Amino acid sequence: MAAGLTDRVLGYRCVSCNREHGRNAAGMTCDHCGGNLDVVYDYGRIAREWDRNRLERSTDRTIWAYRPLLPLHEDTPVPALPVGGTPLVRSEALEKAIGLSKIYLKDDTRNPTASFKDRASLVASLRAIESGVRTIATASTGNAASSLAGMAAALGMNAIIFVPESTPEPKLTQIQMYGAELYRVQGSYDDAFELCSKCCKRFGWYSRSTGVNPFTVEGKKTAAFEIAREMNWKAPDWVLVPTGDGNILGGVAKGFRELQLLGWIDRIPRMAAVQAEGSAAIVNAIRSGGEIESVAAKTVADSISVCLPRDGVRAVRAVRETGGAGVSVTDREILEGARELARMTGIFAEPSGAAPLAGLRALRRDGTIKAGETVVLMITGNGLKDTDSAARQFTLPEPIAPELEAVEREIARRSS
Ligand SMILES: *Cc1c(COP(=O)(O)O)cnc(C)c1O
Ligand SMILES: [Zn+2]
Repeated sequence: MAAGLTDRVLGYRCVSCNREHGRNAAGMTCDHCGGNLDVVYDYGRIAREWDRNRLERSTDRTIWAYRPLLPLHEDTPVPALPVGGTPLVRSEALEKAIGLSKIYLKDDTRNPTASFKDRASLVASLRAIESGVRTIATASTGNAASSLAGMAAALGMNAIIFVPESTPEPKLTQIQMYGAELYRVQGSYDDAFELCSKCCKRFGWYSRSTGVNPFTVEGKKTAAFEIAREMNWKAPDWVLVPTGDGNILGGVAKGFRELQLLGWIDRIPRMAAVQAEGSAAIVNAIRSGGEIESVAAKTVADSISVCLPRDGVRAVRAVRETGGAGVSVTDREILEGARELARMTGIFAEPSGAAPLAGLRALRRDGTIKAGETVVLMITGNGLKDTDSAARQFTLPEPIAPELEAVEREIARRSS
């Protein structure tokens, strides 16, 4: 795993048992307890070599603007395909509707494969190349897969994908269009995950699977850097993250923590995990204060449909350490949130991507989030990736004759 690794990385720390691992650690996970690893940098050195002014002088808005905080060697070439640099959009319409002074949307639907996952897939794929491996595999509910397939295409690598059979068709089409090898697995995401792990061991493929690969978090944390930069180095009060495995939430929290370590921001936001009621293992653990227990996941929000979260420990800890919250919302609230988001802001998100808006309503209702606070909603996936669940809320109008009278009749009918 160490080949080509930048010497700004000192090593790894186990998220579960806190044991330190050297930068030449052989496996992807803790050899003591099997927990996920967190990349540890030489922050003193980074602070000496790099500062906010240098960053501000750069016109690069992609994830590569933050290269000193990424685990890649200086000489590793990066593809031209731009990842990150997504807009942070303020919505006065939502502020009025919800009764909050500031709501921002981090629109990560605008990544190359239309989800937040590109940040992680690109960094993990480049780490595979640095390690001398050109075949990379992942288990996924759909977006990590289509994202890995797209990044592999941009890098000329082979991607091997394991998804549950329930993955929405547009994501499957993306995977096939990018030329990846697709396996649809009978069962859940968790079944696909186990099978992918076995195959990586058996065939020597590099695993991008969420949780076991320590570098997905490194890509995902760049969203925090971008938010802080857009907000002039003042962190928001809250960041609401749709949560399945917990890797995005843990990654974004790490990004803010690193900026605080470097002295670029003086406080970090409270992190809120938003889960579907039918897939709420992380929220359950936040509420109970106990361990994470597997659930039988069932929700319309396919990207956050997870029985056993693969990075739950990291997410629960981030929520606790930031004084954040966990909230679960019903499928109906999620679909209504997606509709409200589209209508009021022009951003069309897939159900999971809009879950933070449903979560915000719930956290306002119970008083957790106060009217004067500044909130960022992480909008993680594009609505065109799952049009079926959105379309089920509507009936299509009957086709009309191409005549003015037909429109007049329709106007009369629709206004009656
Ligand atoms: C993967 C994904 C999530 C959840 O991320 P986790 O790291 O699994 O918690 C949320 N929304 C979308 C659109 C995703 O693709
Ligand atoms: Zn450990």
